[in-house]
Amino acid sequence: MNSKFSASMFDSLKTAMSEQRSGGSFKDIMKTSIGNNYIIRLIPNVKNIADTTYHYYSHGWQSLATGQFISCVCPITTGQRCPICEERIRLYRGDDDDKKNAKLLGRKEQWLVNVFVVDDPSTKENTNTVKILRYGKQLDKVIKDATEGIDKDEFGVRIFDLSESGCNLRITVEKNDGGYPSYTSSKFLRESKLASLDDAKLEAVYDGLFDLTKVFEQKSAEEVRDMLNTHYFCQVTSNASNESRTAELDEEKDVTDTQIDEVTDTVIDNDLDAQQKLDDLMKDL
Ligand SMILES: [Zn+2]
Repeated sequence: MNSKFSASMFDSLKTAMSEQRSGGSFKDIMKTSIGNNYIIRLIPNVKNIADTTYHYYSHGWQSLATGQFISCVCPITTGQRCPICEERIRLYRGDDDDKKNAKLLGRKEQWLVNVFVVDDPSTKENTNTVKILRYGKQLDKVIKDATEGIDKDEFGVRIFDLSESGCNLRITVEKNDGGYPSYTSSKFLRESKLASLDDAKLEAVYDGLFDLTKVFEQKSAEEVRDMLNTHYFCQVTSNASNESRTAELDEEKDVTDTQIDEVTDTVIDNDLDAQQKLDDLMKDL
């Protein structure tokens, strides 16, 4: 390597390349914090309606090798085998120590959706722009209730309507007993006009939606196996690039504990779910 191209420059280059691979929209995910209310309108992807939301599973834990928070999209999201889920299920069937270790490898279910931001008290410049909302099971329930559940007659299609007949979602972030954020008080509001959206801007909004399938890099089963070996089994590998590449879903440190907590809470449900999916996959082998 010559003196103009240093190792740290190479690290920067790898980061830039991985951001390009992931569509570079990770930074466009809204950040919410406890004690705030956020007002947004869900945006349907009118050009490809099936891509309106992106449903995925993720793994994340504090690396036992480096202490760094690492995460990845679970390959089961795209119908592949997942070495982490397989290891987790193996551990879950083991003794108490194994069960404890299984929690570390828990899996989190999340969704992404494009939203028009009406009010973001945390990041004022997000107001009147399109951002990505990432949400978990609590907000999914609020949305499901409004589309097909107990609130469907009151809201239904209107939660995806950008006209004056549409309804905003108010995301309320409260602190639960464990000190973690809770979204269960969030609700859709009565219909209202998006004052800043005229017809021309509406077109621009639809044209400017993020491709939710490209927000995260999808690792192959083999790459996920490497991540497990390096950061869970602490095996030293000759592939030095693993470490930087496994940090792509890395988030701010302040959400790390929350994620681990949620993973711990849902480990049993997820195990059954994962087991079911793995069983389905095995059937075809
Ligand atoms: Zn998995």
